[in-house]
Amino acid sequence: MRAVLYYRGSLFSCNYDCPYCPFSKNKDSKETLEKDKQQLLSFMEWVRKQGDAGHLLSIFFNPYGEALVHRWYREAMIELSHLDHVEKVAVQTNLSAKLDWTERLHKRKAAFWVTYHPGQTSEDQFLSQCMKLYQQGLAFSVGSVGIRSAFGAIKHLRSKLPPDVYLWVNAFKDRRNYYTEDEIAYLTDIDPHFELNVPDYDSLGKSCGAGGSVFYVQGAGTVKRCYSDRKVIGHLYRDGLEGLSAERACGMKKCGCYIGYIHMPELALGDVYGSSLLERIPAGFAR
Ligand code: SF4
Ligand code: SF4
Repeated sequence: MRAVLYYRGSLFSCNYDCPYCPFSKNKDSKETLEKDKQQLLSFMEWVRKQGDAGHLLSIFFNPYGEALVHRWYREAMIELSHLDHVEKVAVQTNLSAKLDWTERLHKRKAAFWVTYHPGQTSEDQFLSQCMKLYQQGLAFSVGSVGIRSAFGAIKHLRSKLPPDVYLWVNAFKDRRNYYTEDEIAYLTDIDPHFELNVPDYDSLGKSCGAGGSVFYVQGAGTVKRCYSDRKVIGHLYRDGLEGLSAERACGMKKCGCYIGYIHMPELALGDVYGSSLLERIPAGFAR
C-alpha cells in the first residue's frame, strides 16, 4: 500500500513563545522527553519492517511543539530519508535548530514545512536558516499565519526569499469573515494559492483519503483518521496498515486545515501541488 503517515509523539513543548500557541515556552519534563524518544524509536522500528510488506510510505512529523531541537527527530529524518520504501519524510518546524545535520539527508526525499513567526526571530536570522536549506538543494516551503499585524512582515519576507521558494499564507480563521476583499487580494499577491486556504470546506459525507491511505499516528501507536476526527480507528502496531485502512466518508461538518483537506479527492489538489503536496510546494515552485 502507498500510505501517508502523520506522526505526533508525546512532545508538548517549544523553544518559541508565540502568544497564540498552547505549546509556547512549555517545558517538557525529562520523563516526557524520554517517553517521546522511546515512542519515536518504536515507530522507527515499525517503519523499517514495512518495506518487506511491500508498503511505500510518506511520513510527516507534525509535533505539538518543535521537534528538530531534539536529536532523535533529526536522526529519524536522516535514516527515514534513506530507506528505499520511504518516499518522503517531512517535518513542520520553526527552523530555529542548528542545521549542521541536514547534509546527511537524502536530498530528494527530505522536506521541510517551515513556519515564520515574526516576533520570535529576526527576519535576517530566519532567512539565513532558510538559505542553508536552499543552498543544500533541500525542498521546503515557508509560511505564516495571515493575521493583520503580520501583513507587512510577510510581504517583506516574500521580497527577500528566492522567487522559487514558495511562501504560503494560512488564513486566520479564529474570527469569521476576517478578511476584506482587498485584503484577500493583498495576500493572494503574496501567495497565489491563498484563496485555497480561506474556506472551511463542506466535508460531511464526502470521500476523503484520511483513514484509507492517510493515517494520523499518535506516539503510543493509536491511530486516528485525521487531525480533526478524534475517533481512534485502530492501533498501528497491532492492526498494521491493512487492518486500519477502510473507505470512510467524512464525519465532520467542515474541513479547514491544509493537512486535512488536501486528502479530499474532490478538491484535486494534487493538480496544484503534484508530488510535493505534503510539504505544500506547488508544482510551479518545485526545484
Ligand atoms: S513555533 Fe510553533 S509550536 Fe512553537 S510556540 Fe510558535 S506556534 Fe507554537
Ligand atoms: S475532517 Fe477533513 S481530513 Fe478529516 S476526514 Fe473529513 S475531510 Fe478528511
